[in-house]
Formats: sequence, C-alpha cells, structure tokens
Amino acid sequence: MTESFDVIVIGGGPGGYVAAIRCAQLGLRVACVDDQVNLHGKPSLGGACLNVGCIPSKALLDSSEQFHRINHQFAAHGITAENVAMDVGKMQSRKDKIVSKLTGGISLLFKANKIESINGRGRLIKDGIVEVTVTNSAGNTANASHPPRVLNATHVILAPGGMPIELPGIPYSKQHVVDSTGALNFNHVPARLGIIGAGVIGLELGSVWNRLGAEVVILEAMDDFLGVADSQIARQAARQFKLQGLDIRLGAKVQKAQVVGDAVSLEYQQKDSTHNLEVDHVIVAVGRRPATDGLLAEGCGVKLDERGFIQVDDNCRTDVGNVWAIGDAVRGPMLAHKGSEEGVAVAERIAAGSDRVGHVDFNTVPWVIYTAPEIAWVGQTENQLTEQGIPYKTGSFPFAATGRALAMEEPAGMVKMIAHAQTDRILGVHMIGPHVSELIAECVLAMEYRASSEDLARTIHAHPTLSEAVHEAALAVDNRAIHKAK
Ligand code: NAD
Repeated sequence: MTESFDVIVIGGGPGGYVAAIRCAQLGLRVACVDDQVNLHGKPSLGGACLNVGCIPSKALLDSSEQFHRINHQFAAHGITAENVAMDVGKMQSRKDKIVSKLTGGISLLFKANKIESINGRGRLIKDGIVEVTVTNSAGNTANASHPPRVLNATHVILAPGGMPIELPGIPYSKQHVVDSTGALNFNHVPARLGIIGAGVIGLELGSVWNRLGAEVVILEAMDDFLGVADSQIARQAARQFKLQGLDIRLGAKVQKAQVVGDAVSLEYQQKDSTHNLEVDHVIVAVGRRPATDGLLAEGCGVKLDERGFIQVDDNCRTDVGNVWAIGDAVRGPMLAHKGSEEGVAVAERIAAGSDRVGHVDFNTVPWVIYTAPEIAWVGQTENQLTEQGIPYKTGSFPFAATGRALAMEEPAGMVKMIAHAQTDRILGVHMIGPHVSELIAECVLAMEYRASSEDLARTIHAHPTLSEAVHEAALAVDNRAIHKAK
C-alpha cells in the first residue's frame, strides 16, 4: 500500500529536519526519511552536523581549549595547576552524550509535531513518489522480507547533505587515514598527525589535537592561506596558528599516502620538489561533495550540475514541479544555518502555494571558524569589492585596545568593517578574536537591516564588552575611533 503525505523530506540534517518541523507547524502532514545511525547502529536524526560534524567537533574544541588554557594561560592569572592530564575516553564520552542529547531532542520535536520519522534510504522515483529502502537494526538493506516502502506526497524536499571528498591515491583506512568523522573518534592523542587541507575542517580538527599535545602538520595545496577569508584576517590567523605550534605548509599538494606498519608515509609536491612526511595518522579534509549517490532514479527529471549539485532556482525549486532541494546538496556555502534557512523558506512556499513568500538573504550568511582565536565574517571581502569595482572605506579596531579582552587575557585579533565609500552602507565585517562567533550576529543583523557604519557607530555598546571592538571599528570607518590613534 502506498502511504500519502503532503510533504516528504529526504534527509534529517539541519536543512531537512528544520524544513519538516516548519511544514508541520504550518499544518502539513509530513514524513522525514533519514538513514543516519549512531555509534550503536540506532537511527539518529540531525544529519552530519549533529552526529559527526558541527556539534561533536565543537564539544572536542571546547574540551581541548580548556586543557590548553590550564596549561598555557592560567599562569598569567596567577593560577598554578600541576599534573594536568587529559582523559581522552572521558572527553569522547562527554562529546557522545551531547550528540545523543541533541539528536534525541530532534526525535522528540518530530513526535511533538506529529512528523513521521522513517529510517532508511530515500530515493526519488518521480514527481511525488519516494521509495525508501528500509535499513533494519542489523544494518541490512531491503530484501524479500524487507521490501522497499513506497510513499507519495504532493511535495518532496531533497535535503541529502554532503559527504567528505576522497582523494585519488589516498584511500581511507580504518585507523590511519581517516575523514573528519574518523578524526572525531581517536581514542588517544596521536604523537604525529598529518592533515591534508588547511580549510575549515583541517584548522578546527588540527587545533583540537594540537592543543592536546599532537605534533600537527597541515599540508595545503594552495599558495594562499585561508583564501575564503579577508586577507588581513587570514594573515593574523596564520601568525596565531604558528605561535600555537601548528605547522602549516602552503603550496603542498599531497599525492600519495601509504600505510607502512603503524605509520603513514605522505608524499607531497611543493614547488618543483617531492617531499615525504611520516606521521601516525592522517586526516583528509579536502572539502565535501553533495551526497546524491542513489538519490535520484533515472528519468526522475531532477538534474545535477557539472559538480554534482542538485540544480535549483533561487527559490530552491528543481526542474520537476513539486520537488525542491536545499542545503549542502545545492549551490551556495555548505553551512548548516544556510540549509536551515532554505528549509524554512521552502516550507513557507509550499504552505502558501506561492514562491513569493519565504526569504533567504545569501548576502548575509555568516561564516565562523571555531579555532582560538575564532574567525568570523559576513558579507564581502576587500578583494571581492575591488574585483567588482565597488568603492569602499574600512575601519578596524584591535581587541588589544579593549578592556574586556585584556581582562580575559585574550588580546589577539581585530574587527574590520567595510562600508560603501559613498552610501556608508555596511558591505562586510571581518573578525578574528575571542567569541567573534557571537559578535558577528550583531553585524549580520545590521546588514540585514541595510545599516550604515554610522548606524552602528551611533548605537550604544555596553562597557566593558568585546562588542566595543565592533563599535570602535564602525567609528573607525569615519576615522573617529576613540581608543585608537589615527
Ligand atoms: P574546504 O574547502 O574548506 O578546504 C579544503 C582544503 O583542502 C582547500 O584549501 C584545498 O585547497 C585543500 N586541498 C585539496 N586537495 C588537496 C591536496 N591534494 N593536498 C593538499 N591540500 C588539498 O573543505 P573542508 O575543510 O573539508 O570543509 C568542507 C565543508 O564543510 C566546507 O564547505 C565548510 O564550509 C564546511 N564546514 C564548515 C564548518 C564551519 O562553518 N565552522 C566546519 C566544518 C566544515
């Protein structure tokens, strides 16, 4: 028998589960199909973000940061601590508890919203028809006794997320060569850790294990460090990471990895010469790709672009009438909050029966890299504005000149605001420093409201707070920062 819904969502990550909840809030009958399981093989909603991405990595980042502080920063406060040790098992079980609390929370929200949660792998057969290959608790997929389930719905939302890219010549091995998921589950601190890729994942996971005592070498193919960020911020970040002991080698393209006994031998090309590096473990963090394998039956009509992303228009509509796609599998940054916003917008479009509702402003998607110091930005960089010929002015302010950052013993970093040279409208804000993941929200809101730098300059910021650096950067756009000489 075919089961019918108003909406079927394929994928229960931050794009899919949020879309499902919003659809249900709007009175639609919803099913969400998801095949993620936890460490014990049990269904676990929340996608890569909650299970093997954003959340577990932040748990480890926080634990390792506490350990690093005790060892390296407490002394400045007059606190001495002896025999400080890290119990990696306990750190990992704390992380696992946080993950299961949050993934369990999504199941409860599904129940409260009467969303049918179906564990299995969804496949779009054609407009409105989804087949689910049910995975049983032993992990076996459909067979004669477990035939695929066929569901139909007026609308289908594809939210399959992304998965790590595998490098040719560098196959994953269970222990030695791992992706970001494997890197979250080391049961000891590796003595020598190699990371391929100095992107967001490489820097975050490199920071975790470096703080816990691993000797970390990051090999990055590009000559520029952190090319997605503002170049001034990237330079400051490179300096800080070097001080922390991260060995980041640029222009180093890794070509081969070979497990030899209990170690891995990496071969990389830098300039015109070939180098070798021996490490105990390797994390491959060279980007993610859309997880569309097996998602679309032949002839279903939904098209992929040349990079494998599901083709959608600005409203997340695919080429097939009532099939939508959101999140990491479609164009735009692979960020959880971008997927969630698309999920909400699509749900509202479906419920209203109109593409004129729902709103995602791609110009104000915040980026955060959760290293220490943190890096965050919203809007355009100076390089992007120069390329487009847009005239701009900038104002910046160092955290070292704010009382709060000094009191926290965290003076490294700065805030830079970029505004249009004529209209003063804020075009971008770039930060490196303590808690900038939180400070960026003010700037996102300001940009969302089309604020000028003067709007922020005239807004009262509490003293003493880190947010004063944002205020002073806004004042600096007009050369009138109070606590900085011109
Ligand atoms: P990334 O694209 O950020 O970085 C990958 C890096 O690997 C690039 O700099 C690339 O030049 C390098 N590289 C590729 N091939 C190489 C080779 N053979 N040798 C050496 N270097 C090589 O990708 P990522 O860090 O894997 O992250 C994947 C996605 O997940 C990103 O889109 C990111 O936005 C998202 N993510 C976001 C967060 C966050 O928001 N804090 C955290 C984790 C992941």
